[in-house]
Amino acid sequence: MPTQLEHARDGTVTPAMERVAERENRDPEFVRQQVADGQAVVPKNHEHASLDPMIIGREFATKVNANIGNSETTSSREEELQKLHTAVHYGADTVMDLSTGANLDEIREMQIEHSPVPVGTVPIYEAVTRVDDVADITPDLLLDVIEKQAEQGVDYMTVHAGVLAEHLPLTDGRTTGIVSRGGSILAQWMEENGAQNPLFTHFEEICEIFREHDVTFSLGDGLRPGSLADAGDDAQFAELDTLGELTRVAWDHGVQVMVEGPGHVPMDEIRENVERQQEVCDGAPFYVLGPLVTDVAPGYDHITSAIGATEAARAGAAMLCYVTPKEHLGLPDAEDVRDGMAAYRIAAHAGDVAAGLPGARDWDDALSEARYDFDWNRQFDLALDPERARDYHDQTLPGDNYEDARFCSMCGAEFCSMRIDQDARDADGEMEDIDADTDLSASPAADVNLPPVGVHDTSDVPESAEFEDDRADDLAADD
Ligand code: SF4
Repeated sequence: MPTQLEHARDGTVTPAMERVAERENRDPEFVRQQVADGQAVVPKNHEHASLDPMIIGREFATKVNANIGNSETTSSREEELQKLHTAVHYGADTVMDLSTGANLDEIREMQIEHSPVPVGTVPIYEAVTRVDDVADITPDLLLDVIEKQAEQGVDYMTVHAGVLAEHLPLTDGRTTGIVSRGGSILAQWMEENGAQNPLFTHFEEICEIFREHDVTFSLGDGLRPGSLADAGDDAQFAELDTLGELTRVAWDHGVQVMVEGPGHVPMDEIRENVERQQEVCDGAPFYVLGPLVTDVAPGYDHITSAIGATEAARAGAAMLCYVTPKEHLGLPDAEDVRDGMAAYRIAAHAGDVAAGLPGARDWDDALSEARYDFDWNRQFDLALDPERARDYHDQTLPGDNYEDARFCSMCGAEFCSMRIDQDARDADGEMEDIDADTDLSASPAADVNLPPVGVHDTSDVPESAEFEDDRADDLAADD
């Protein structure tokens, strides 16, 4: 069966491209051309039946990925399903299962079965769990893991094929060394075996597996900087050059590609990073991890990174990998997923507004009009996180009688500036001149840029309580 890229090159608009065009409010032929040119990807494994197709590319609304998954020490199968539900509910456009703990296959199959968004993985993590020592990983083991995950329906995989043995000396003297999990594992493997990265030497075999199942490459940045001090160094850009070459190899095999980027980058270097990736990788979609613009705020890195992600989105990054408040500190729980998602939906939307994506600002205008109208219920409904907006308002002014009030508890009735302003304009007869008629139903913005932010139907993504009813017995029987 051809990949989306091969169909696009043949001039075929697939049902997935039709659906994407509908969601993005774009012409299907434009979608096809973007995919054919490698400027956008539609991650869609042939086996992922529950998927609602989406697109990642700089000409489309900026997307957000949420990382979920367990670790050796924390999280259960039930919690993982709840994280998936939470991530999709709060607007994740894709999820990556980064599990490294127990029950990897069951968790992955469960996620793919229920996820309406593409599911990504990092197969080197599973390979590590299958050996006692990283050095014992073999190319055949890596290919086995990749093939099995492709057969399970994984839509995209992070493959750190650009970390080469000759790049490793370039990381000497770094402040934070190699911070990518995949990058550090492969560096250890190369040093202990005295051999080249097997993901690089076997890249064309991986391409053939990906082509068969239509898995999209997410070419990993295993040498990304883990601190401002290491940003933009020779190691980072040597790997990027290799990723550019691998992008063209994958395209030759008819496989879709996006490319991952840093990491920790000072604010003033973010645009340069995006433009350099776009040039080196011939416009393949850039998927950035943050970037964090300062290193000083553990506990708040959803904020430090959302600032960088906004600038990256404005400069042309196509997808943002969210960061939660637990970054650098621990495995996120469901509440951290919610906070990280909110920070990144803000970054993606703010980037789209600043970049002038058609209709992106309509949402802002509609909410501002509701705010000035003191239409509290509409303001809550339009909010990026309606539940939180309503909850915060009602903490101090509970009850229906306050939902028409011309003030909130921040300034109080007497000092509400909007009420004072309106009364003054009323007296002057100026209120009629205020234009407040943004019609979101007529907005040219993509679905992902209109409220409610949780655009995906989560009815097929059970929360943990339902999970216990539906699946626990099955999984127990498998143990
Ligand atoms: S009281 Fe202050 S914060 Fe509240 S609606 Fe009025 S101007 Fe806005």
